[in-house]
Amino acid sequence: MDRPVRRPTAVGRLLELLHLHGPLTRAEATTSLGLARSVVGDAVTDLAELGLVVVRQPAPSRTGGRGRPSPVLLPAPDGPVVVAAHVGVGAARLRVVRLGGESVGEPASLPVDRTAPAERTLAELAARAAELARGAGGPWVGLAVGTGGMVRHGVVRSALHLGWTTEPVQAEDLLARHLPPGVTASVAHECSLAALAERRHGAGRGAGSVLVLACEHIGIGGALLSDGPAAVGHALEAGHLVVDDRGPQCPCGQRGCLELFADGRALLREAGVADTGDAALVSDVLERAARGEPRPLAAARRVAERLGIGAASLVNVLDPDLVVLTGPLRALAVLAREQLESRLADSLVARVDNTRLTAGELHEPVLSGAADLAFDVFFRAPSNALGGNTGQTRPDGG
Ligand SMILES: [Zn+2]
Repeated sequence: MDRPVRRPTAVGRLLELLHLHGPLTRAEATTSLGLARSVVGDAVTDLAELGLVVVRQPAPSRTGGRGRPSPVLLPAPDGPVVVAAHVGVGAARLRVVRLGGESVGEPASLPVDRTAPAERTLAELAARAAELARGAGGPWVGLAVGTGGMVRHGVVRSALHLGWTTEPVQAEDLLARHLPPGVTASVAHECSLAALAERRHGAGRGAGSVLVLACEHIGIGGALLSDGPAAVGHALEAGHLVVDDRGPQCPCGQRGCLELFADGRALLREAGVADTGDAALVSDVLERAARGEPRPLAAARRVAERLGIGAASLVNVLDPDLVVLTGPLRALAVLAREQLESRLADSLVARVDNTRLTAGELHEPVLSGAADLAFDVFFRAPSNALGGNTGQTRPDGG
């Protein structure tokens, strides 16, 4: 299609609706979007011409119903794909997701060398993403990456555990320069992405404001998603909440930060397991705790207690309706619910507002959130991406 779409906003909103909710009749879509029928009709025509939406005419009713039944709109089965990536400590995970939300093939992993410059890691990530996208069929329209550190305006700062100091990943196209034209590049904090995904598809569905706490082997992060339409949430350096100012030195500069007592490293220490830096050790201790082995279970409960102390302070300050634990912390919500809840109840706000705490529902929420972010960017200008422009479409619309 060489003409611009007539209704760019309606086209984007309709695509988002179909992506998140699946097939709908045109009448349902019109009601849900609150737009005029003619506007939705034009958007459907444009999307069908772009090959993004399939319009299926229903069989004529033989029961004498009035009027013609509304056609059904579906995301195209060979529609566009995005690659979602999560750059963690030691390894990156990647997954291809098609319009409509279905994962294509198996997720992939890529080793990440902490001593390598960020640009080399990003080039390798882009190359692996391109390989995966090629195998998926359908046009590749976006790559979104979740990382730790502080992510502001496309710049990742102080991702201590990745060895990144100031990396203008999106702001200076460190990632986009390795991508083909029409493929947008976005970066966001891993916890913001996890929060987006849990809010849209997981434990936070239908909740008001949601506080997500997540941990990897090293470090604890958080994100707050306020009430209202789900968008990428505000990331919090939750792991650097001071819980003991005479505690051990943290690489961030403070002493006694929460993550020194409640992340994967702390769990291994409490369980008496030598920490070789292998993230699988953390899952192993949690699995043994789940089987009831005394020392791992005691370690999980001890760590949960400290996490609960941190969560209570965060709830006092942020007043979320729901606290969702993701990553390895998810297991703690099951294994050590009593410790978490009793510490959370130390928070006045949690007692008064009856703040709930729950385990996340998604297996790899950062990847789910990254896929949503890449599609959100695509929905803002689908014809640009498919027209093979020069990759200038930016998440901030600039
Ligand atoms: Zn710290």
